[in-house]
Formats: sequence, C-alpha cells, structure tokens
Amino acid sequence: MKLPKSIIEIIEYLEREGFEAYVVGGCVRDSIMGLVAHDYDIATSALPVETKRVFSFCKVVETGIKHGTVTVLYKGSCVEITTFRVDGDYTDGRHPESVDFSTRLSDDLSRRDFTINGIAYNPKSGFSDPFYGARDITLRTIRCIGNPEKRFSEDALRILRALRFSAVLGFEIEPKTKAALIAEKSRIKLVSKERIFSELKRLICGKYVKRVMLEYGEVFAEIIPELSAEIGYDQNSKYHDSTLYEHTARAVENAPEEVYMRLAMLFHDIGKPQCRSTDENGECHYYGHAEISAKIADNILRELKCDNSLRERVCGIIRLHDMPIEQSEKFVRRQLSKRGYEMFCDIIKAEIADNSAKIPETKKRIPMLLETLELAVKINSEKPCVSLHALAVNGNDLKAFIPPSAVMGEILSKLLDEVVDGVIENKKDVLLTRARELYDNK
Ligand code: ATP
Ligand code: MG
Repeated sequence: MKLPKSIIEIIEYLEREGFEAYVVGGCVRDSIMGLVAHDYDIATSALPVETKRVFSFCKVVETGIKHGTVTVLYKGSCVEITTFRVDGDYTDGRHPESVDFSTRLSDDLSRRDFTINGIAYNPKSGFSDPFYGARDITLRTIRCIGNPEKRFSEDALRILRALRFSAVLGFEIEPKTKAALIAEKSRIKLVSKERIFSELKRLICGKYVKRVMLEYGEVFAEIIPELSAEIGYDQNSKYHDSTLYEHTARAVENAPEEVYMRLAMLFHDIGKPQCRSTDENGECHYYGHAEISAKIADNILRELKCDNSLRERVCGIIRLHDMPIEQSEKFVRRQLSKRGYEMFCDIIKAEIADNSAKIPETKKRIPMLLETLELAVKINSEKPCVSLHALAVNGNDLKAFIPPSAVMGEILSKLLDEVVDGVIENKKDVLLTRARELYDNK
C-alpha cells in the first residue's frame, strides 16, 4: 500500500518510542479498491498522553480525547491518531458506556463495524486482516464484524453506514448482515437527527442509490415515515411505468451527485398521494402536488435539522419541479430575472432527472431541456440585466419628472421587463425617454 511520506514518518515516530502504529479503516479499504484515500487515520498502542509526548514538537489538538483521539498537525496536514480501543457495553443503542484502551491491534479491529473497514496496514509488517476484509472487498460484500444483531443493536448508526457503503461502493450487504439490519431498524430512532441526516446525505449521493432504496425501502421508511406512502403506490398515469417509490429512486439516481439535487428528487413527489384525483377516463392526476411536496419536504428537513439555506434551496426546486419550460430566449431571460440563474438551472436539472425516470416517451423531452439549460448558461455569461439593481437608471434619475410614488415603482419594473425582453436597450438615455413616455401615458 502506498502511503504519503508524512504518514510513514508519523508511524515511524511512534515506533521509535516503542509503540505500534497502523493506518486503518477507510483509507486501507479505499487503497485496496484502487481508489484515492481522502484521509489517513492512524491507530496506535500509545495512550493519548503518550502520543502527545511523541509529537510534542507539533501542534496537537485533543479532538476526541474521551475516545482516545488526538489530531496532530504534521507538516501542514491534520492526522487523527487514535489509541487502540475496546468498547464497553452499549446501553443507549448509540454510545459505549465506557471506552477502554488496549495495547492489542486485534481488539481495536474487532470493535470496527464491517470487515471491509477492519483492515490495518503497517509499512514494515504489511496488512493485518483478521476478518478477511480484503476478501470481502473482492466479493464486493458488506459484512459485520462479529454478530450482526449485536453490532446493530449496540449502535444503530451502523445500519445507515451499511446502506451508505452499499450505495457508494455498489457492494451487496451479506444476507445475515442484511437480516439483522432489517430486524434492528427501529433502533435508528435512537440515533441523533444530525447523524442520521449526515449519513442520509452521503447515502443518496451514492452512485448505486437506486438499488439500495429499492432493496431497503422499509429502512428508508423508518428514517422518513412520509416515504412509506410511496412504496407500492400505483400512480395510474400514462406517463409512469413504475410505482411512485420506484420512480423516486430512479429520479434520485439520475440527478447530479449533489446533495441538494438528490434531496430534491427524494422528496419531489412525496405529496402526490395527498393530491390524487381521477378523471372520467379513470386516469389519475396529481394537481398541486409540487407545492404540497415542498411543504412536506420542508417539515422533514426541519425534523432532520437540515440547515436553512439547504432546506430552502431544496424546497424551492421541489415547488417548481413540474413548471412548464419553453425553449425560447425570451422565456429564459424572463426566468433568469424572476428566479435567478442558479434556481432556473436547478429546476431544469430536476425536470431532466424526473423525465428520465418515467416512460421512455418522456425521455424525448430531455434534449430540449438540455438545450434550454445551455441557453441559460450562454445568456447568463453575457451578464444580462435581469434585476432592478442592474438597470441603467434608478429612482433618483426619474425623480426629476416623476414624483416618488407607487407609479415610480411600476415604471421601473416595466422598464426592467422591456430590457429583459430585449425590447429596449439598457442605456440611461433610452430608459429616461421611455420612462417619460410611460409616465405621460399614465
Ligand atoms: P469514509 O471516511 O470514506 O466515510 P470510513 O470507513 O473512513 O469511510 P469513518 O467514519 O471515517 O469511515 O470511520 C473510520 C473507521 O472507524 C471506519 O472505517 C470503521 O473502521 C470505524 N467506524 C466508524 N464508525 C463506526 C461505528 N459506528 N461503529 C464501528 N466502527 C466504526
Ligand atoms: Mg474516514
């Protein structure tokens, strides 16, 4: 395994003082998979005070001292070094009662969640893989270390971690681990909302999220009870060839891998069952579902302690996800003025994901939507005037011949509309003449 020079040096510093040290967890897994590790976690037999002493020449922060973790700022990077641990009993379904330090690597590896995360590596002694994690990486399998029921009942966050790794890596969850995870799913409520949401965000951004959503619908319904109405729901619509939940899972996976887009697609139709009506031909319609879905999503995201700006962005997209899109320059300019560039692009991206998850016929709309998106990018790059702020005149300029009043506001917004539509140029003299004309005609 190829390690950065600074990580090798940190391991050597600890070894020189008589301690053992290994890289562990995600970085070993990622490197065996041929992926680039994003950070390197080190496990050591040194106690936190001893680690601090070994690195007394560096800045050391006690980031999780109760759990034996210190962060060393070494040659410009922050590296977490954690003492080998054996977790005590878990009584609250999330945190061990006590944490005991150990001098044995095998203890530390046994407390880890999955075999693929239970591999250690040391440049001199090579891999330590007592639970055959490398084999499971080859088999593309997620398997608990130890007894799965016990491991999930100790810490229910592991249920979401299993789904997250499955969605991100495309690995299957091994049958016993799967059965235990489903059996223990009600314990998820013991996990803090913040932790649930942070795992959920990573899970839905996975490349293989659709499969996980479909296979583990009941776990999703445990996290977001409002989703249970979608599962098995027959939409009875000529545009759809799958249940509402399957459509949602497809739309999520087809959306760009960005948290806000994926969240928007996860909730975009959640209000449909509440808006159903049936026409004389027996076909169902869902008028107003975008607005209702946005309201439901807003409540769910508040529950999950989502930050306000992400929540507002997501709900804004949901509210407009079925808005009619026209492929004309005038339409795009008006939308940029009305909603802003970012929001308009987000709505088109949501419509693309949505259409890609319906009957094949609806996919024919996608090239038009892509072209409209390109048009928006082009128009925006020309820095068009789309707000009063960018208009070449303001209230002060008009004061000379229009007294400050509601009429003044009306005239300014009329000028903006005409500039946006390309009827007049955004030039001061042109606008002043036109303003006078509009005022005289009042
Ligand atoms: P990534 O950093 O890509 O999310 P990771 O596997 O490194 O993946 P972390 O959350 O950084 O995940 O955790 C580091 C390691 O700590 C894991 O590989 C695993 O060995 C262990 N671990 C993390 N969370 C738990 C948990 N809830 N229960 C048991 N072991 C855990
Ligand atoms: Mg990690």
